[in-house]
Amino acid sequence: MLILMRGDATTKQTGRVLTLIEDAGWTPFVSRALGRRVIAFAGEDSGMVQAASVLPGVESVQSLGGAKLSTRAFRSEDTVVRIGGRGDCEAVEVGGESCVVMAGPCSVESRELLIRCAEGVRDAGARALRGGAFKPRTSPHSFQGLGVRGLEILAEARRITRLPIVTEVLRIEDLPVIVEHADLLQIGTRNMQNFPLLRAAGETGRPVLLKRGMMATIDELLMAAEYILATGNDAVILCERGIRTFEPSTRSTLDVAAVPVLKSRSHLPVIVDPSHAAGRRDLVIPLALAGVAAGADGLLVEVHPEPKAALTDAEQALSLADFQRLMQAVPGFQSSRAYGK
Ligand code: PEP
Ligand code: MN
Repeated sequence: MLILMRGDATTKQTGRVLTLIEDAGWTPFVSRALGRRVIAFAGEDSGMVQAASVLPGVESVQSLGGAKLSTRAFRSEDTVVRIGGRGDCEAVEVGGESCVVMAGPCSVESRELLIRCAEGVRDAGARALRGGAFKPRTSPHSFQGLGVRGLEILAEARRITRLPIVTEVLRIEDLPVIVEHADLLQIGTRNMQNFPLLRAAGETGRPVLLKRGMMATIDELLMAAEYILATGNDAVILCERGIRTFEPSTRSTLDVAAVPVLKSRSHLPVIVDPSHAAGRRDLVIPLALAGVAAGADGLLVEVHPEPKAALTDAEQALSLADFQRLMQAVPGFQSSRAYGK
């Protein structure tokens, strides 16, 4: 339920509403929309609607049913998620004025390759370094990632390049070591509805990059985001990475419309991963441009210094030269959006 306070409601009046909610056993979340305070909580019973609507300072009580904390009704302003900035790397804002490109290999394979890649993507204008240390592989016989050694290499690349690190979390028990080494926790498409993992990632307080499940609707993506937001962590970035359709020409089908749909329904930043959507390097630049034109706040792109030799996702990896072309293809990449604000 959402309780919209009047513009002139006093702190005391808001306090009475919060007490009513807490006394009924719910946790209230407070935000602002259209210059007013908004209070959200999980309860939906009609007794609460009645009790809350007659309290002084309350303008209206709405039953939302579904997503609450991720909605524009709860927070009308865009959320800007700040990643990095912990001393040995730059602070980067996702969801602000500039379109942020995060790039790097699918997997961390060796120190030498990762540092080469990190320096190359930084020089081309990337603002964060991606790289998988724990890989979710379809086959248990395929390369599973370097694990903790991969995280150590990523942390070294951060010290050298000052780029914040994005890496995937597969299991709750890996969270402490990942939080020690990484700045943005990626929840992959296969784990979008791993609810205990979402909660545990949220509870670390670290920003979370939540990828859309390959068979998930936009509603389901927003509900997964609610799990993280409900822990009190509001640093969530949504990622459209393509969904499964009947079309075999691409690995997934990039749902370009999801970008403006998510931006209109939610205050959270939305980025696009053209690499996993395309599954082929020749389509990565056009899909990246489509995502930016649709209003994405950033991109997540796979880049490898020797793409054909990549141990994972070799078919979709851009070379460093291709990545430079991508960065040049978007007008005003560093400072403004192609479309939108
Ligand atoms: C990845 O980013 O390397 C990855 C595995 O992505 P997804 O979860 O979108 O498949
Ligand atoms: Mn990959």
